[in-house]
Amino acid sequence: MANDVGKRGHTLLIVEDSRSVAGLLADRIGLINGVTVLVAGTLEEAQQMVLARKDELFLAVLDLNLPDAPDGEVVPWVLSQGVPALVLTAGLDDNERDGLMDMGIVDYVNKTNPSEIEHVVRTVERIYRNRHVSVLVVDDSNSARAYLMELLRRYGYRLREARDGVSALAQLAQHEDIRLVLCDQNMPGMDGVTLIGRIRQRYCRSHLCIIGMSHYGSGMLSARLLKAGANDFINRPFLEEEFFVRVNQNVELIELIRSMEESANRDPLTGLYNRRYLADAGGMLFDAATRTGHGLAVILMDLDHFKSVNDRFGHFGGDEVLRKVAHHLTDITRSSDIVARYGGEEFCVVAQDMDNRKARVLAEKLRAGIAGLCLTIKGQAVPLSASLGMAVHLGSGLEDMLTRADRLLYEAKSSGRDQVRMEQENP
Ligand code: GH3
Ligand code: MG
Ligand code: MG
Repeated sequence: MANDVGKRGHTLLIVEDSRSVAGLLADRIGLINGVTVLVAGTLEEAQQMVLARKDELFLAVLDLNLPDAPDGEVVPWVLSQGVPALVLTAGLDDNERDGLMDMGIVDYVNKTNPSEIEHVVRTVERIYRNRHVSVLVVDDSNSARAYLMELLRRYGYRLREARDGVSALAQLAQHEDIRLVLCDQNMPGMDGVTLIGRIRQRYCRSHLCIIGMSHYGSGMLSARLLKAGANDFINRPFLEEEFFVRVNQNVELIELIRSMEESANRDPLTGLYNRRYLADAGGMLFDAATRTGHGLAVILMDLDHFKSVNDRFGHFGGDEVLRKVAHHLTDITRSSDIVARYGGEEFCVVAQDMDNRKARVLAEKLRAGIAGLCLTIKGQAVPLSASLGMAVHLGSGLEDMLTRADRLLYEAKSSGRDQVRMEQENP
C-alpha cells in the first residue's frame, strides 16, 4: 500500500514573545545537527514566516499568549497550514489540555518548568530523526488505520500500511527501514498474535519492535501478544499522550541497541569494522562461499615504515593518515565486502565472489591506491605504501585464511615492501 513520505523540511519555527524563553530554546535546538531555527515574536511575524517557508518547516513550537494573539490563536492557524505544533503553556487545566490535544497538536509543555524545556528539545530531536524511521500500521479497519497514521504523521514518522498479515509480511520483506510495527489483533485471515509470531521467526526484538493493539477488557490478550513477541501493547481506546510515549520509547530503545551494536563493531579511530566484527561477519561470508562455491579473498595489508610516519609527523599526523587510508579502502571495495582495522597500521579486506584474476586485480588496486594517495601534512608530502598478503583458497575456515594471508604479507615485506603476495593458483 501507499508509502506516505510527507514533508521533510529541516527548519523549526519558534513563536514566543519572551526573549529569554525563545533564546534558550533556539540555542538548545540549534545544537541539533542539521536543524535551522527561526524565531517569531508575534502571530503576524509567524504568519509571514510560515507562508514564505511552509515546505521547509518540520515543526513549530508555539506560545499560547502572544501580544497580537492572547488566546492561543496561533495554534489553529499553524495547524491549518499543515505544520505540526508543539505548544508552550504556563500551566493548563484539563479542559484547555483536552481542547489542544483535540486540535491535533504533538504535545504541550509547561515552559515555566526548566525540565520541561529539556522535554521540548528531546521531542524536537525525536521528530527530526523520525524522518528516517518507518512505521508499519497493520489493521483491517480503514478508519482505525487512518487514525493511527494521522497520529504518527504528527511525529514525523514515515508511514507504511497493511490491512492484513500477508501484506504486512510482504511490506517487511520489501522495506528494511521499518523499525516499528503497530499490529491490530482482530483481522480476517491471520490474527495479530499469529502475525507477531510469524514476524518474530525472521526479525528479532532488538532490531524491529512490535506494539500489539488490544481492547480494554480483552483479558489474556495483552499477555498473549507479549508472549508471541510484541515488545509492548496498547489498549484501545487510548489517550493520545500515552500512545506517543509508548511509540517513541520503543523506537528509542531500538535506536539505542543499534548504536551500541554499531560502536561495539567499529574501530573508533577510523570508523572501520573491528576484529571482533571481522571474525563474526567474515565467518558468515566464509560459510556462504563454501556453500555457493563462489570464491572468497582474504587480504591483509600493513603500511610500510609507518613508525617513521609517526616519527616525522607526530602521532596525530599518523592518526590522520590511518583515517585517510581507511577512507580509501572503503572507496575501492564493494559495500558487501568487509573492511576492518586488523591492528595498529594493519587492515583486512574480505571480498566476496572472487576468482583468482579478480582477487589479484583488487589487491593490486588497493596497493596502487595507497601508494598513490599523495597525502600532505603541514605542506609536506607523506611517503606511503603498503605490503599485502592474500589468501584465496578456502581451506578450513576464516582463521586459516588469515594465517596464510599473514604469512604472505610477511613475504611481501621481506621481498622489498609495496607489493602483493598471493597464493598460487593450485594449493
Ligand atoms: P614495516 O614496514 O615493517 O611494517 O614497518 P613499520 O614501521 O610500519 O612497523 P612497526 O610494526 O615497527 O611499527 C608500526 C607503527 O605503527 C608503530 C606504531 O606506533 C604505529 N601505530 C600503531 N597504531 C597506531 C595508531 O593508532 N596511530 C598512530 N599514529 N600510529 C600507530
Ligand atoms: Mg607497518
Ligand atoms: Mg605492523
